[in-house]
Amino acid sequence: MRFRLYPSAAQEVLGLEQCGHARYGWNLGLEQRLMWRRWKGPTAGFNGQAAQLTEARAAARWLACGSQTVQQQALRDLDQGWRSFFAGTHRRPTWRKASEHEGLRIVGPQAVRVRRDNRARSSVLVPKIGWVSFKRSRALIDWKSYRISRDRAGRWHIAFAVIPEPIPAPGTGGVVGVDRGVTVAVALSTGEMTSPKGLRAKEADRLLRLQRRLARARRGSNRRHQVKSLIAGLKAKDADRRKDWVEKTSTALARRFDVIRVENLNIEGMTRSARGTVQKPGRNVAQKAGLGRGILKSGWGLLVTRLEQKAPGRVEKVKAAYTSQTCNACKHIAAESRKSQATFVCVACGHQANADVNAARNIAAGHAVTARGDRRVLARSVKREPQHARPPKVA
Ligand SMILES: [Zn+2]
Repeated sequence: MRFRLYPSAAQEVLGLEQCGHARYGWNLGLEQRLMWRRWKGPTAGFNGQAAQLTEARAAARWLACGSQTVQQQALRDLDQGWRSFFAGTHRRPTWRKASEHEGLRIVGPQAVRVRRDNRARSSVLVPKIGWVSFKRSRALIDWKSYRISRDRAGRWHIAFAVIPEPIPAPGTGGVVGVDRGVTVAVALSTGEMTSPKGLRAKEADRLLRLQRRLARARRGSNRRHQVKSLIAGLKAKDADRRKDWVEKTSTALARRFDVIRVENLNIEGMTRSARGTVQKPGRNVAQKAGLGRGILKSGWGLLVTRLEQKAPGRVEKVKAAYTSQTCNACKHIAAESRKSQATFVCVACGHQANADVNAARNIAAGHAVTARGDRRVLARSVKREPQHARPPKVA
């Protein structure tokens, strides 16, 4: 839940300082982890780096002036980013740059210090900054952490991380398969297909024009700065719409079906494998490259996360292999059956379907096919405890 934040001029200065500290910690931690590869010595994990931070704060007054919570959290976030990178679900953490990555995160007891000022406004007590006002356009319920950031246009936002409430299963026994499509973001075994809205044609045109204008604008000029912030605004709009789509789609699926089956496929691997190897050159490289961008863009990872939160214990991950090459009618597997990105025509039985929907039906059936061609049922329920132990907080 993201709201516009309104720091005073003095708070803005303090805020930027803290963002700088967070960035300093992040980059220093990242540098250490990258160095480790070359030296092959023991790596400093979060605990080691947190200890070093304490030492650094004792030695450098400017660092000690800032909030230790903020600085530690940056290291913790880096640690999480690093783990996700090795788990294969995320890209490697990148360097944080001034003006591009101005942000800080607060987690835990300090994150819940929010007071209601009036009908539309609340304030949040940010460590070392004080009470900062934000426009509360929606009710704020049960959050665990928040992130404050400043965009390139100089606007501040606060985003509260909220774990959505589990949605009760309809109890109909309905099972749905969800496939990541190419031309559409998601195809369902019911035959439905949906994609996030993203930018409208007019907005996309405008973005393209602005990007061209940026290429011509002189470095460091006011104009360049202005164009940059307009581009950032359009990109934020695009991201917001995609996130909105993820929320609506995950809610609808959790409400309509008892069991939701998705491919267990790591996004990073899929993006990486597009080029193929010498022995096995990647087929449809251009299409796969597009697909890679597409899945990252359409926020598949976020969709699965939200599904698991909204339908805990009801999301099943099914092995991804051959779901797009298997005929859902006769189970024959042939790469040639997938005539194009959009159409599937079985070379054995002639069954015709939209290729993504055919794949979604295979996923719904929970079958996975091994390399030898025998079918196995691999779907296993991922049971998770409900994550709502605390009473909800309302501000
Ligand atoms: Zn067939």
